[in-house]
Amino acid sequence: MASTKYGVPRGFRDFPPEVALLRRRIIDVIEGVFERYGFDPLETPVIEYWETLKGKYGEEVESKLLYRFQDPWSGEWLALRYDLTVPLARFVASQVPTLPFKRYHVGRVWRHERPQKGRYREFWQCDADIVGSPYPEADAEVVDVVCDVMKSIGYRSFVVRLNDRRLLRGVFEEEFNISRYGEGKVLEVFRVIDKLEKIGREGVEAELLRAGLGTREVEGIMDTVEVSGNPEKTLSELEDRFKGNESVYVAVDHLKRMIDTSIYRDCLTLDLSMVRGLDYYTGPIFEVYVKEPKIGALAGGGRYDDLIERYGGPKTPSTGASIGLERIIDAGLELGLFNLERKTCTEVFIVSMDEQYWSYARKVADEMRREGLKVQVDLMRRSYKKQLEYCEKKGIDAMVFIGEKEASTGTLTIYIRSEKKRCEQTPLSEAVKILRQAAH
Ligand code: AMP
Repeated sequence: MASTKYGVPRGFRDFPPEVALLRRRIIDVIEGVFERYGFDPLETPVIEYWETLKGKYGEEVESKLLYRFQDPWSGEWLALRYDLTVPLARFVASQVPTLPFKRYHVGRVWRHERPQKGRYREFWQCDADIVGSPYPEADAEVVDVVCDVMKSIGYRSFVVRLNDRRLLRGVFEEEFNISRYGEGKVLEVFRVIDKLEKIGREGVEAELLRAGLGTREVEGIMDTVEVSGNPEKTLSELEDRFKGNESVYVAVDHLKRMIDTSIYRDCLTLDLSMVRGLDYYTGPIFEVYVKEPKIGALAGGGRYDDLIERYGGPKTPSTGASIGLERIIDAGLELGLFNLERKTCTEVFIVSMDEQYWSYARKVADEMRREGLKVQVDLMRRSYKKQLEYCEKKGIDAMVFIGEKEASTGTLTIYIRSEKKRCEQTPLSEAVKILRQAAH
């Protein structure tokens, strides 16, 4: 009989226990940092009405990257969420929470992209957003919380590329006649420049020409977007060069204050080529990179002051960031910041020397579980030797042996592998203390 191999769709993955355990550990660190800055959890559904997502991300995303489908029962058009920011805006518009509303959300999102290194179709984002503040302090705090996450996970060196949509708009005003092309052209230019890393300068130039811009305009745009470097110095230079341009003035002032407030200002660099593809950004934007491995941005974010209004809410300036869990983990594994050695969360295995001790083993396991230890007993009726082999394979560090001596005296024998420590005939309460210590 031919056997069918059942796999998962391209761009989707299973996470076996050692990977799932690592992911949980990293999520714990991230959520811990978010909470230390006063962000509270918010959860929204994975499915949204297509109407909710439509018109928020740009045409390319909406026509090619969103998973969209018709509910066979109601006939309604639905979509899997593409990010966590748009659902937040929908939520805030309808609930109008107390401001500032600082929420975090760690969850799956879906994008029908071409799978490659660091690029999946199902992946997790870890977002922190501040809703309600128009001020640079809020943008600085968002950058700081992301940098704090990076440090807390173990990244020693990373760069935050910073830019501002208003700064770019101001520059574009000087380089091409926006009113001639219409406002939509600005967003189109942003989206093309966003591909700079992917398709190179020539590719971007060709796309801008195809978008209808003149050769001189394209040259002007390309020369300015290649400006990068020390933020304070570069901002002052841009301010001089585009004196009298209101958008540039407003953006430079905001960015300077933001940089001044940031605890992690040493990690910041100004990079005019970093535009971020999504349509909803209105102010400062940033992305976080490591030199190696080449995996794209590990995190990104920015200010989106108009999004909540678009859902019928009051005008509510907002800013936030999104950390890509897969990239943080894939890059961290490559850099050796952590590993997949931990294969189980079981802290203790109770080894019965013989069938007659099973009920005592279960009683001990029950009491240890009540004390908060993570305990397994043998469920396969295996020999003592096979139980030990299982512990070895699973990487369970602590074993409790139950045999004749232990059962008759109501005590336990403990062996902790990593410490090569053996304690014989230990009373249960004492055993719990030893095992708890070993587990930490
Ligand atoms: P974005 O909303 O596109 O700015 O994404 C925020 C973060 O999510 C990025 O900085 C990446 O770390 C991560 N990310 C984006 N797209 C993918 C993907 N296809 N696969 C894995 N991670 C991604």
